[in-house]
Amino acid sequence: MPLRSAMLSQRSLLLALLLLLGCGFFATSLISYFSSRSSIRDHIINTELPLTSDNVYSEIQKDLIHPIVVSSMMAQDTFLRDWVLAGEHDSSLITRYLGEVARRQQAYTAFFVSDASATYYQAKGVLKQINPQDQRDRWYLRVRDMQAPYEINVDLDLANQDALTLFVNYKVFDYQQRFIGVTGTGLTVASVVRLIDDYQKRYQREVYFVDAQGRLVLTGSAGGPKGAHAGTALKDIPALASLLARMPTPVSGSHEYSSDTDNHFLNVRLIPELNWYLFVDKHDAGALDGPRQSLYLNLVICAVITLVVLSLLNAMIRRHQDSIQELATLDSLTGLPNRRAFDLLAAQALQEAEREPLPLVALLIDLDHFKQLNDTHGHLAGDEVLRQFARVLEGCLRQADIICRWGGEEFIVLLKEANTAAAFAVAEKIRERTEQLRFDFAGQPLQLTVSIGLSTRQRGDTLHSLIALADHALYRAKQSGRNRVCSEIPRSDPP
Ligand code: GH3
Ligand code: MG
Ligand code: MG
Repeated sequence: MPLRSAMLSQRSLLLALLLLLGCGFFATSLISYFSSRSSIRDHIINTELPLTSDNVYSEIQKDLIHPIVVSSMMAQDTFLRDWVLAGEHDSSLITRYLGEVARRQQAYTAFFVSDASATYYQAKGVLKQINPQDQRDRWYLRVRDMQAPYEINVDLDLANQDALTLFVNYKVFDYQQRFIGVTGTGLTVASVVRLIDDYQKRYQREVYFVDAQGRLVLTGSAGGPKGAHAGTALKDIPALASLLARMPTPVSGSHEYSSDTDNHFLNVRLIPELNWYLFVDKHDAGALDGPRQSLYLNLVICAVITLVVLSLLNAMIRRHQDSIQELATLDSLTGLPNRRAFDLLAAQALQEAEREPLPLVALLIDLDHFKQLNDTHGHLAGDEVLRQFARVLEGCLRQADIICRWGGEEFIVLLKEANTAAAFAVAEKIRERTEQLRFDFAGQPLQLTVSIGLSTRQRGDTLHSLIALADHALYRAKQSGRNRVCSEIPRSDPP
């Protein structure tokens, strides 16, 4: 295959592998990223948020159910009603009653507001007179006029340093079902706020309560979404615009929306006792950091692996190509250039000698009675002798000389810039060294001689004619008894 197209196909192989590995790694990294993203998302929506919602709800229930029951009992209490109907004479009686209720129910505030006298009684005595004009007393009018038997209201408790308090306001009727006042209990929401704060901090999610009209009613100490305070309508919080577009009033269930750059997961749940909705909101910024980071790490590892694999492959292909090239030009037994290499080198040497002009001498070398050596000592011994003879030959020549295993036990040498006399001396050296050497095969000394035919390039000689002359000389060397150097008809040195 021509070198250029071999390089092209090597490049396209590497490119195809790069694409294959790159796409494969990229696809698997993306798949694992999206699958872990969706499992985290599912976990948040289906487990985490409902669980928080359940926990907060059961906490609220625990705190609320009891005061509702107690308030209901107070509203039905015959002592309370009798005392009111009897004209509210001894206020210490009702005060003791309220004090007892508050004490038994621990830390709860207990109160009664008489419709007849507009007096607000609580455990410590008479707190105040209800004034319909006073903004803070408006709640009473609302409760008086409402249809439901009771309501739950978050308000500041005047009797408890204005602490934010959950009041259960129960309507009280006389025995003819006439409205005579409002009684109930109050508990501070500090514990609920603490709970909200705790969840928000621990799980990085927002927890707040919204009434049926979409108004914030209870939040953690730092406020609701974007720090909005209780009383704010959700529609006035710009960050919730995309949520409210889909859910204008609270609806129980799981919702997803985006605000600014974050995606939010939201769980909404109705708290029937309060007719409020509990919102548990988590934004995915932190939640999906893990998979995103492992995606980047995966991609970097994949890129490194791809590059390492491709560069190893490239190096392997190169080495393979080099060895194939070497194999194509070197004789595998002796490591000397083969005929193919010789043809190229010799054609070049002949051209140079013709152009300069310079002398060029060919030596055709044939091992004597090699067949006999093979027959006596085995083919392996013959191989070993050929190998060692190649080293002898190299030892007698210069770097610039061209040497080749011509075939079988024949070798050819081209001596550059050497006249016949010098070439003869070199050929003699080869012959002598070979004769004197004991070739070693498995500790066994083997003896060998060579016959050499020598021809000197004349003007107009081709490689073929030069070798034919050397072959002729070799024939004469064999004929005249072997172990000698013969040159083809002594001729004068070329000009
Ligand atoms: P001559 O002196 O006339 O050259 O006799 P010869 O026996 O050397 O010549 P002949 O051409 O009859 O035999 C050459 C032998 O060389 C025959 C062949 O088996 C052996 N030969 C050729 N190539 C190899 C080789 O790679 N390894 C071995 N061991 N023997 C080889
Ligand atoms: Mg031969
Ligand atoms: Mg021979």
